[in-house]
Amino acid sequence: MIALIVEQRCNACNLCVEVCPANVFEKAQVGPPTIARQIDCTTCFMCELYCRQDALYVAPDCESPTQVDAEAVLASGQLGRYRRDSGWDEWRGLYPNEQYLMERVFRRARAGDAADERPFPPVADPARAG
Ligand code: SF4
Ligand code: SF4
Repeated sequence: MIALIVEQRCNACNLCVEVCPANVFEKAQVGPPTIARQIDCTTCFMCELYCRQDALYVAPDCESPTQVDAEAVLASGQLGRYRRDSGWDEWRGLYPNEQYLMERVFRRARAGDAADERPFPPVADPARAG
């Protein structure tokens, strides 16, 4: 379920608002959209796929909201992972359609484990690091 928008990364493009099939987000007058209807999130990851700023974090628990700390998520390297493993945008040709890699994340979520510990390579744009 959508957990947070990292404000310092978001450029307010509102693509996530447009692609979300469950109308979870609300455009703001200025700045990042708000997560207005979190409970309606279906954990489809579309917003993560379309966010080229890697500013969104969708937690793998699709039943209930997950409380997360923005700094901890930034440090975890999880942001943008789904987009990368799906081979979108700058990852095209480098990670071609590796969505199956997310299986470990979902399996661990079902088992009640912590996040996957698989190492995550640094993102291409140094401005986004950490
Ligand atoms: S798609 Fe990403 S950058 Fe664009 S508004 Fe949504 S969170 Fe912000
Ligand atoms: S995971 Fe899917 S349903 Fe949830 S906020 Fe993102 S696009 Fe909307």
